[in-house]
Amino acid sequence: MQIGEFDVVVVGCGIAGLSAAITAQQNGARVAVLERAPEDERGGNTRYTESFWRMKSADAVSDDFEDRFAANAGGWPDPGVLRDAVRDWNNQPQVLRALGLADPHLIATIAEEAPKALKWLTEFGVKFDFLPLYFLSQSTTRMGPIGGGLALIEALGTYADAHADDIEIFYETAARGLIHDDAGAVVGIRAVGPGNKSMEVRGRSVILASGGFEGNQEMLSHYIGPQAQFIRPVARGGHYNRGEGVAMALAAGAASCGDYGSFHAQPVDPRSTDIEPVVLNYSYGILVNDAGQRFTDEAPGMVDATYEEVARLIMGQRHGIAYAVFDAGLDDVENWPVTVRSRIPSIEAETLEELAELMEVDVRDFTDTVAAYNQACPEDGSAFDPLTTDGLATSGITLRKSHWARPLVRPPFRAWPMICANCFTFGGVKIDENARVINAEGDAIPGLYAAGEVAGIYYRVYTGATSVMRGAVTGRLAGADAARRRNSKDLKR
Ligand SMILES: Cc1cc2nc3c(=O)[nH]c(=O)nc-3n(C[C@H](O)[C@H](O)[C@H](O)COP(=O)(O)OP(=O)(O)OC[C@H]3O[C@@H](n4cnc5c(N)ncnc54)[C@H](O)[C@@H]3O)c2cc1C
Repeated sequence: MQIGEFDVVVVGCGIAGLSAAITAQQNGARVAVLERAPEDERGGNTRYTESFWRMKSADAVSDDFEDRFAANAGGWPDPGVLRDAVRDWNNQPQVLRALGLADPHLIATIAEEAPKALKWLTEFGVKFDFLPLYFLSQSTTRMGPIGGGLALIEALGTYADAHADDIEIFYETAARGLIHDDAGAVVGIRAVGPGNKSMEVRGRSVILASGGFEGNQEMLSHYIGPQAQFIRPVARGGHYNRGEGVAMALAAGAASCGDYGSFHAQPVDPRSTDIEPVVLNYSYGILVNDAGQRFTDEAPGMVDATYEEVARLIMGQRHGIAYAVFDAGLDDVENWPVTVRSRIPSIEAETLEELAELMEVDVRDFTDTVAAYNQACPEDGSAFDPLTTDGLATSGITLRKSHWARPLVRPPFRAWPMICANCFTFGGVKIDENARVINAEGDAIPGLYAAGEVAGIYYRVYTGATSVMRGAVTGRLAGADAARRRNSKDLKR
């Protein structure tokens, strides 16, 4: 069945898709939106996020914004290549344009456009502020919309619903493939609706805003490896994101961008059904795996900057699980309960032996580990300061703990199980500063745009509080350019 002819077809109804659809409509385009979820679950990951933005004010991103992206660029990139990558687009060697890297031009565009996107969102009634977080202290500045990502989806969704003549949303409809014309331009989407009904939706441009592949176990195993069996989306919205947007674009010849072997990792309580049930107090205790062994420095720095690497190490343990273990000293940390969003109580015992039994960890191995750690803690713990990296480090033990090292000796003893959850995947496709998808030869694919998680920008470590703003910014860029393209006579454009 063929459904209408639109100026723009958008796939996905999260922050990227709604920003794209509404911007295109505000610029005169007639838009179709395809959304896998039913209407009351629309919004993918965005629906469940608190949606922090790495901003120091409504007018500017955080001071560390571009430096963090540069530091988190991953791997050991060739400095000569990086030097070329900062040259302007037209002066870059063609092959470089297609290179998978955190493109400094795109990052600078996101930094410049984020305040404009934030202000645009306030026009729909969303209010931003500096809101409380689940970190006791932070290494950067963050703002968020009051009501979180749900407030964004509701505000934009209400606008889209009120303009249903120009923005037609097809729910429970999943995009499967791109339709090309003879010249190689993208001119529509093949999709499947309720009851496995095939349909085609034609449009002058297509914007892929269907999130990453966090909900696709096959792709996760393929790109991340067998340990991916131990991870799960951090919230329900991730299950809807099964990677078709990324796969369709790659099949159309798009250049890949973003770290396919990685994802935004978060340590969560596996017993919990809460949204994002993070356990972020572990830096004040120790972490052991289910063999009763420590496996990492639990406190290499402030938790907000280091939890992701720790979560990935948990995924790498033999059963993908670890336990954060504390003694009564945890209560010396004022406000620590805000750092644990699981509402399931900790495992608690009066002795370490009993705790090990409750954790189903070998008693001897566990108590030996705690004894060795206790032995390595400084005798004088008076420098303990939970809000700064206090330098209270272990010594004489191979696996060092760099801060907040105090012996675990005072009952009651407590433990939380922790697994690694997947907030979203990093692997996506390369886009330019108008969110046009770039092919593997460095040229824009006519008619094809990518926004949000489909547009890969992260390598190894997530630059925190930048994914919703990436979605809003790239969605708006794509929507505006697709609306311009609608009037262009140049079919190659
Ligand atoms: C609990 C949680 C907390 C987070 N906290 C933050 C934070 O504080 N700050 C931050 O910046 N980021 C945060 N993130 C990450 C951020 O929310 C997401 O990366 C971002 O919202 C993604 O936006 P998106 O529009 O690209 O994708 P999504 O919001 O996931 O939307 C994708 C949409 O596409 C639909 N879809 C998928 N496949 C198809 C298909 N084939 N056909 C049709 N429709 C399809 C889905 O149903 C969904 O509605 C958090 C995420 C979660 C889950």
